[in-house]
Amino acid sequence: MATGATFDVGQMRVHILNDGVFVTDAGNLFGGSRKASIKGAMHPVLVEAGDDLVLIDAGFGPELPEMLVGRYELRREENLLDHLDEAGFAAEDVTHVILSHLDADHVGWALGPPSFPNATVYVQEAALEEARRMPEKDGRRAAVPAVEKGVEEGWCELLDADGDVLPGIRVEVRAGHSAGHQIVWIGDGEDIALYTGDLAPAKIWLNPDLISGVDTDPEAARRNRIEVLSAAESRDAPVILYHEPGACLVRVRKTEKGFEAVPIGD
Ligand SMILES: [Zn+2]
Repeated sequence: MATGATFDVGQMRVHILNDGVFVTDAGNLFGGSRKASIKGAMHPVLVEAGDDLVLIDAGFGPELPEMLVGRYELRREENLLDHLDEAGFAAEDVTHVILSHLDADHVGWALGPPSFPNATVYVQEAALEEARRMPEKDGRRAAVPAVEKGVEEGWCELLDADGDVLPGIRVEVRAGHSAGHQIVWIGDGEDIALYTGDLAPAKIWLNPDLISGVDTDPEAARRNRIEVLSAAESRDAPVILYHEPGACLVRVRKTEKGFEAVPIGD
């Protein structure tokens, strides 16, 4: 299994970690009844920022959530905590966890059960509110009790806008895939990298016209995808693609039809 890349952004060191791959029916992602299966990696990102250690998104957790058994298959030899260990860190070292949104494949190790005892977990309030309105069996809805418990116990902080979680770690609300979906800019000025979350989670999603069956607001997703990828291109920012099973660190370039990925490194 490919190990993640490590690269520097200004004074910060960025590690692309790994929580395995999932396989699911294409119909679960695009809607309709397509029979092809589709594979997605999970690449949580670890940022060394001075004395702080920031994790961005948190995979599926110790095992595939019950509600997805039968629809999703999870394949991994090593999980996120193994890869964290290989990067030289323990779960106790993580000080901040940023969740792009509340889907099960992004919140696992952060919420179910919480694996980072010294971390504050950052969630956009709009994402929580939307999750509360989802149907009973929905993955986002399943995250609600843990987030509410975290808020009550003080280890989860609700955000209601763009802002700096730390100097050089900036969240920006870019809704569409979910309400309150947040992306993360790592760095400052021209020395900057982008984590897109599920706004553009893999190379195929660099096409703004591709509508996902799991986007809450497809028009917002399309508009935000174009704006964010245009900003990444103009800043020449490395872009980390959370679900990309191939090379997940790329630069993006505008084409006639949308954007294309230019791999960085290997
Ligand atoms: Zn996802």
